[in-house]
Amino acid sequence: LIELRDVNKYYGDLHVLRDVDLAVGRGEVVAVIGPSGSGKSTLCRTINRLETIQSGRIMLDGRPLPEEGRALARLRAEVGMVFQSFNLFAHKTVLQNVSLAQVKVRRRGREQADRRSLELLDRVGLSAHAGRFPAQLSGGQQQRVAIARALAMEPKALLFDEPTSALDPEMINEVLDVMRQLARDGMTMVVVTHEMGFARSAAHRVAFMADGRIVEDRAPEEFFTAPRSGRARDFLASVL
Ligand code: ATP
Ligand code: MG
Repeated sequence: LIELRDVNKYYGDLHVLRDVDLAVGRGEVVAVIGPSGSGKSTLCRTINRLETIQSGRIMLDGRPLPEEGRALARLRAEVGMVFQSFNLFAHKTVLQNVSLAQVKVRRRGREQADRRSLELLDRVGLSAHAGRFPAQLSGGQQQRVAIARALAMEPKALLFDEPTSALDPEMINEVLDVMRQLARDGMTMVVVTHEMGFARSAAHRVAFMADGRIVEDRAPEEFFTAPRSGRARDFLASVL
């Protein structure tokens, strides 16, 4: 579904993605892990073209990513992204937050959008909070709203960039549980995370990044029990 081939990206002189190859099949969950500054966020952002690349190819469904215009807006709907900071509209209710892009991007009628939003809020356990404003929710609840909002676009895939890093420990699991359920439902997901338990139990593959390279790309069980590279061994020793 998603395929990166020989992708290179620079910020000025800084070479942040080096010859990156990554293939994510339909229904596959890939956890991206690695030290700070290794290029994990940049990798995510290139996939829905929040960043441009200098060389290589990124394909979605066998087609190159669109460059601009309407096709680019469609790409952002098809490949949803959930960030560390929830980026909800503070002056809109939970329901409005989930409905807004459906009306604007998917051209749904308001009623149809709201109906769909309520279904999705139910799925993330928040239908009782539809009328609240983001500030009236906990961080974990806000992040679940952000996930419902991404799902409302009926994405082909979802990218998560450290979705639980800004959360208090007791809220991390309620968000991970929603993500686990999505994985079981067959959603294609790329998840940048520091939650090694999640990577190990919910991901089909782990992509370990260091210095802009994907150093290892393997089944979680193999990676966590027998990392091949020194970089991965050092990293695991520092986080586990
Ligand atoms: P973290 O775990 O801290 O989130 P990361 O693996 O997500 O790190 P990136 O955010 O992708 O790392 O950054 C990769 C490198 O690119 C870092 O050296 C970072 O300083 C640099 N970088 C990121 N964004 C920019 C930018 N907009 N302009 C210049 N350099 C950037
Ligand atoms: Mg990052």
